[in-house]
Amino acid sequence: MISAVVTAETAESFRVVEGRADAGIVLLCDHACNALPAELGTLGLQEHELRRHIAYDIGAEAITERLAKRLGAPAVLSRFSRLLIDINRGADDPTLIMRLSDGAVVPGNQCLSPEQRDARIARYWRPYHDAAGRVIAACRDAGPPPVIFSVHSMTHAWKGVQRPWQVSILWNEDSRLAGALLEAFRTNRHLTVGDNEPYHGGLEGDTLWQHARPYGLASVVIEYRQDLVADRRGQDHWADVTADILERIIPTARQPYQKSALPNGASYGEARSEDANRTGSGRVSSVSRTSARADRRTEHRPDEPGRVLPQLPEQLDAGSGG
Ligand SMILES: [Zn+2]
Repeated sequence: MISAVVTAETAESFRVVEGRADAGIVLLCDHACNALPAELGTLGLQEHELRRHIAYDIGAEAITERLAKRLGAPAVLSRFSRLLIDINRGADDPTLIMRLSDGAVVPGNQCLSPEQRDARIARYWRPYHDAAGRVIAACRDAGPPPVIFSVHSMTHAWKGVQRPWQVSILWNEDSRLAGALLEAFRTNRHLTVGDNEPYHGGLEGDTLWQHARPYGLASVVIEYRQDLVADRRGQDHWADVTADILERIIPTARQPYQKSALPNGASYGEARSEDANRTGSGRVSSVSRTSARADRRTEHRPDEPGRVLPQLPEQLDAGSGG
């Protein structure tokens, strides 16, 4: 029997890397690129701003491509900067189109009309999510449900404080994949592995919320620290380390979710707290979700008291990566 293949595809706002539909994993890379449509120029930013983390997740694209190759898995990658529109936000999220990111005012995003905002969603946001939905559906049809692995990178420091984690696993209420990944990375005693740090993996409307949660698929966001994955050597190293782990744990992680099957659940602080919030349906309470959302946004709030910024009452700063 010939196994189904997700074929390669390139569109204006996304591309799909070919892979086996029964590989057991779908890779997503929401912040792969720093490109902008020609008609929007640089959104009024200096060129150097587009090379910073505010424009994309440094190293994430190359890691995703290598993971796809190693695992024979399909991948969906964005083809535009998160400054144009943030794929990893719900369409109604106030931080979907950033007017301020890590201290940089984005002139081209300041005065969008509702129609211009809707047009960006339709042209650059929705096609990516439609593609991710199609790829995941094809993989679900091909065999046991796939796990969803969302590749990101984070800055090495935030607000002058060095981040200690070389790699972080962000997750919400389902620990199947997260628990196994944390356990595997932590077998290397030289690593400091983040568990829902620097922020929690549960954000209503984000990519995994849209594509994994509704179908009960095991999923995580992984954040690689950007100083470690800025060059090809680092990207290859971390992709290979991750692929070695995923090859081992995917068969177990994609099994149906059972609370009693939490891998060493008691050793994970988040698992304990989430257990306390979980209802019988396996859903996290609205209190917990709200808290997670607040944590993620609060950390990203701009903190430059000496700088006069436009009045942006609902606009927070997601410039710390993720
Ligand atoms: Zn990201």
